[in-house]
Amino acid sequence: MKTALLCIGDELLKGATVNTNLSFIGSKLLEQGLTLDHAAEIRDNGAAIADAVKTALTTCDIVITSGGLGPTADDMTKEYIARLFSLPLEQDGSVVFSIRRYWKQRHAGEPEGRILNQSLVPKGCKVILNQFGTAPGLVIRPPEAPEKMVILLPGPPAELQPMFEKDVLPLIVERAEKRCYTKLFYICGVGESEVEERILPLLAKTHPLTAAYCATHEYVKLFLNSPDMDILADATLEVRAEFGNDVLEGSDGIAGDVVRLLKRRGLTIATAESCTGGLVAKMITDISGASDVFPGSVVSYANRIKEAALGVRAETLESVGAVSRETVREMAEGIAERFGTDCAIALSGIAGPGGGTPEKPVGLVYCGIVCEGVTEVFEFRLGRSREQIRERAAAKALDMLRRMLLKGAE
Ligand code: AMP
Ligand code: MG
Repeated sequence: MKTALLCIGDELLKGATVNTNLSFIGSKLLEQGLTLDHAAEIRDNGAAIADAVKTALTTCDIVITSGGLGPTADDMTKEYIARLFSLPLEQDGSVVFSIRRYWKQRHAGEPEGRILNQSLVPKGCKVILNQFGTAPGLVIRPPEAPEKMVILLPGPPAELQPMFEKDVLPLIVERAEKRCYTKLFYICGVGESEVEERILPLLAKTHPLTAAYCATHEYVKLFLNSPDMDILADATLEVRAEFGNDVLEGSDGIAGDVVRLLKRRGLTIATAESCTGGLVAKMITDISGASDVFPGSVVSYANRIKEAALGVRAETLESVGAVSRETVREMAEGIAERFGTDCAIALSGIAGPGGGTPEKPVGLVYCGIVCEGVTEVFEFRLGRSREQIRERAAAKALDMLRRMLLKGAE
């Protein structure tokens, strides 16, 4: 069985919108050991859409489209696909009801005509109701090839994602014959090529097993693939033995692991951030339930805030400067004491592009960590781009704390 995804919208071809629907659908299929066989981006043009669907159907059994289901004139996916199969549009009562209910939650009065036009659906199709918008998803069986399916989904990711997971993914999984299972590991503090080098012996002795790698500023993603679930389970144990604490426990990043470790041990954390401007606090609060462990943070960009809000000594700032081991130590200890937390992360560095000197070049970041009464200070050299330096600094700081927490739990 083969599956195609056609993402519709001029904005995708112009580079104004990143095609996250492809990455979302691709990753959800991968979790089920499946992959798309074909994907393309198509203009907001009726003939181009119909053509792309027709061509995809010659090789694929399921063709999914995203986008072009809205109420504006550039949205023509439904009309042209219905025309391709010579299916008339008919009003669907359940969609009318669902649109009215959605509308009532946000607006006074009745939905206007072009909103209600979204309740016109190709005759005989199955409707997927949209809880987060007004355009329904549609499952069409082409009259000439009723064993195949064309599935139309709305473009906005917040609408497409729940519909895909709940209603479309089961349709695909049900029909799939050949699966390849994937286990994904998040490995911190080890470079991509070193991960590969250390995995090669496992690949050499295990068949069928393949690996793929993808490096981000936070971790290296290691994908192990095998059609045999038992082989994958054994390989998982070997990867964990090889990489130990370098492997994250969860799939929600380093911050997810940190929040869980803190929660498990009844500990709390505060952050004092200069060059990262609150990024560590953002990563922590991205995790739902962070309020149990995180009372808050201080973005102490200016020296006077480092002094007034964190108690960093004026002599320290004068003698060794804001980007120094001593300053981040005082920042970390100051915030832990003032916020009454067991742990703290403090960061101060040169994010560039200006401000570097031969002694303190762009990319130099100091990180102070308090963990249950122990303070440690780290020096990082993190590259040249401002964004990269800030992202890497936040991730590395959280990783250092994660490792201290793991050591403390032993
Ligand atoms: P549409 O269904 O074409 O009206 O899409 C409406 C919204 O969804 C627009 O804001 C698009 O930028 C967004 N959108 C459409 N397709 C995608 C996609 N493939 N990835 C991410 N966003 C998208
Ligand atoms: Mg559109």
